[in-house]
Amino acid sequence: MITRTPASLHTIPHTSHESRASEAFSSAAEAPSAPNDWRAQLRDVIRSPQALLERLGLEREWLPGARDGHELFAIRVPEAYASRIRANDPDDPLLRQVLPLDAETDVLDGYVTDPLEEAEHTPLPGLIHKYTNRVLLMASGGCAINCRYCFRRHFPYDDHQPSRAQWQDILDYLRADERIHEVILSGGDPLVSPDKRLAWLVESLGEIPHLKRLRIHTRLPVVIPDRVNDELLGWLGATRLQKVLVIHTNHANELDDAVAAAMTRLKSAGVTLLNQGVILRGVNDSVEVQTALAERLFECGVLPYYLHAFDPVQGAAHFAVSDEEACNLMEALLEHLPGFLMPRLVREVPGRRSKTPLSKPPVSKPPVSKPTVSKTHPGVDAATGPSASSPAGDEREPSSLNPTGIIASA
Ligand SMILES: *Cc1c(COP(=O)(O)O)cnc(C)c1O
Ligand code: SF4
Repeated sequence: MITRTPASLHTIPHTSHESRASEAFSSAAEAPSAPNDWRAQLRDVIRSPQALLERLGLEREWLPGARDGHELFAIRVPEAYASRIRANDPDDPLLRQVLPLDAETDVLDGYVTDPLEEAEHTPLPGLIHKYTNRVLLMASGGCAINCRYCFRRHFPYDDHQPSRAQWQDILDYLRADERIHEVILSGGDPLVSPDKRLAWLVESLGEIPHLKRLRIHTRLPVVIPDRVNDELLGWLGATRLQKVLVIHTNHANELDDAVAAAMTRLKSAGVTLLNQGVILRGVNDSVEVQTALAERLFECGVLPYYLHAFDPVQGAAHFAVSDEEACNLMEALLEHLPGFLMPRLVREVPGRRSKTPLSKPPVSKPPVSKPTVSKTHPGVDAATGPSASSPAGDEREPSSLNPTGIIASA
């Protein structure tokens, strides 16, 4: 493997942004593939119901459901991920994330195709500007893996694939709004894009003075750990922007040694590593699984960030975990994890300018033992006197202590 340091990347001759942009946008500019090449792994994915069942030794009874679901949202599973799925086990938590079931074709009330109403916050194709000081760029339409619960499974990615000219418009937009401090590369999966294009984009972002941080939301380092290659570390290491990479994983079994090694490489490039996951029925809706996930993440140098409450996206109802169950799980989790390994349970609520934390309704305050005037008069309250005794139930926390007060919408 050729080792390219950030310094050697700077030696690539270039004349202007325009010419670098054209190079970045031509796929012919990519080098030929090497062993362990992530692009070969991205190309040679399992993409049919038959192939997935055969690879995992599953019975043919799963085929009709898999075919129906596949029609709605194509199967896509890289071998590196399939190798972490237990063979012949229809309940495997990784398998559940990628195998379509009959249930996907159910059309249910309250289940929608754009639960986040993101289409309303796209000032330019490929740009979602919903929160004041941070924007989300759809840096790529595709993903390495197709997750059955994806809330963007119905998103019209093809309409949001910026062309080169559109990228220039996006950069102009970012330059013009000094409130924006952070750019989040999202998708799809932004790391599906070629390194040359990402290097060009990140270098262009670095030239906008008011930008402080670059954040990348990606599942690729988990799905195909070889994606964390020298080229990626090169452009990531070269930017002046502070770097945060938010991986997406839902179960400790996804985090094998190859993923751990990829995380170590990212860390050594000065990247802060966080994880976001989704709470999913039959995958990670238990205290044991969430505890093991948080512990394993920390072993890999990653802190839990968000645990997304389930969104009622059509085709994914079989993963539904109610808000009440999710809140109960979080409460139980507190006893098993140090505070810094607790993910924040959140939901994206259309119209709000941030994620909305979910929490249980306020609980009654434990009874406070108040000083008494004297042991011979135990019923007399030193502060208020005997006449001020309050009726039962008055000892509640004021509701302002639960500012988030999320109302279950599902
Ligand atoms: C989630 C999200 C962000 C990032 O939110 P953080 O709370 O900063 O992680 C930004 N923009 C949009 C549209 C989002 O959905
Ligand atoms: S990687 Fe993320 S965006 Fe892509 S299918 Fe999975 S959940 Fe959706």
